[in-house]
Amino acid sequence: MRNLFLSVEIGGTNLRYGVVGQTLQVMEFEKEPSSFLSEAEDKGEYLEKLLQPFIDRYGREAFCCITLSLASLMNRERTVNYNSPNIKGLDHISLVDILEKRLGFPAFMERDVNTALLYEIWKSGMDSRGIVAGVFIGTGLGNAMCIDGKVYIGNSGSACELGHIPVLDFDGECGCGKNGCIELKASGKTLAALAKNKYGCPIEEIFSLHGEEEDVKAVVRACAIATATEITILDPKCVVLGGGVVEMKDFPMEYFQRTVRENLRIPYPRESIYFVPAHKDPQAGIVGAVINAQNRMGEKEY
Ligand SMILES: [Zn+2]
Repeated sequence: MRNLFLSVEIGGTNLRYGVVGQTLQVMEFEKEPSSFLSEAEDKGEYLEKLLQPFIDRYGREAFCCITLSLASLMNRERTVNYNSPNIKGLDHISLVDILEKRLGFPAFMERDVNTALLYEIWKSGMDSRGIVAGVFIGTGLGNAMCIDGKVYIGNSGSACELGHIPVLDFDGECGCGKNGCIELKASGKTLAALAKNKYGCPIEEIFSLHGEEEDVKAVVRACAIATATEITILDPKCVVLGGGVVEMKDFPMEYFQRTVRENLRIPYPRESIYFVPAHKDPQAGIVGAVINAQNRMGEKEY
């Protein structure tokens, strides 16, 4: 019976992997530093070795596919990564093709923000019909959108790059290759620079120690403006809000939400929008990747 999923989340710090069943029950769950994969010469060989104990335990015929979640720009078909900033040697290779050849079953891949949003929709038990937006304020400003329970990836596969919307009369140089992106003002990276260069405090304490400072509030305000922009265009039924910055001690949630609303039209969506806090589940990435694979299973034969 091919009813189990091998699932791998390749994060900036940790690589989490395991076995997940059809009803999304996590049967195996492990993690290790992502640096091991980053250093590995042959990524396919490394991942196959990592997963081999599961394949031995359950039998190759027990698995219907392998599914991956990672922070990267990728092509529309979700086979090739263009830009995986955290892991060396992943760009412009097809991890999907490599794993399919090695393992002998289909492989799926999706951006981490998209699998995170799929997980949150499932976990919160909300009706997945309509549009649900996800804003994940971490090192960067992550964004995702689900329409009727499926991630929206756009025409070329590059939808929902909210962090890279242009800001009028601002020309800061962004890591994405263009200038003036809002992420330069609205991200954990900006907070980290303030913590290090101006306040000399650990970033984890910046809201507790300096939350009332104008430049710290300006970062939160920029995140709110980006979020309000997305809500203005989409009128989603809710926004799932997560990421390391939001989870930090004393993050000014009330100020953030008030600023979003102040920048929305009256009466709607100002009155209709609501925020759903993301869970902090370590298994979110591998389960979300399985939901994505279940949505896409019909696309591949095995
Ligand atoms: Zn950019």
